[in-house]
Amino acid sequence: MNKKSAEAESTEKKKPKAMAKIVIDRDRCKGCYFCVKFCPRELIVISEEHNKQGYFPAEFIEEKEGECTGCKTCAIMCPDTAIEVLK
Ligand code: SF4
Ligand code: SF4
Repeated sequence: MNKKSAEAESTEKKKPKAMAKIVIDRDRCKGCYFCVKFCPRELIVISEEHNKQGYFPAEFIEEKEGECTGCKTCAIMCPDTAIEVLK
């Protein structure tokens, strides 16, 4: 392995794997905010607009799409199966 590819590989190793995104079904969400609390990258916030059920649903921060690792913690924690993880 030459120096350049060794450097590229070591930079690659330092970078977190981040190629996923999530989709939250706003109208299924009951606002427990487990996903907000447990996302290790803090990529989920509380929406300012309520859904059909009157809850303020969780919302993925679209600007941070490239930072989601697809770890599925949010989807696993969600009691209402409102989160789908796309890889
Ligand atoms: S899959 Fe993981 S990193 Fe992505 S939003 Fe859910 S908890 Fe956060
Ligand atoms: S865990 Fe599910 S129900 Fe709870 S706030 Fe997140 S999306 Fe909504």
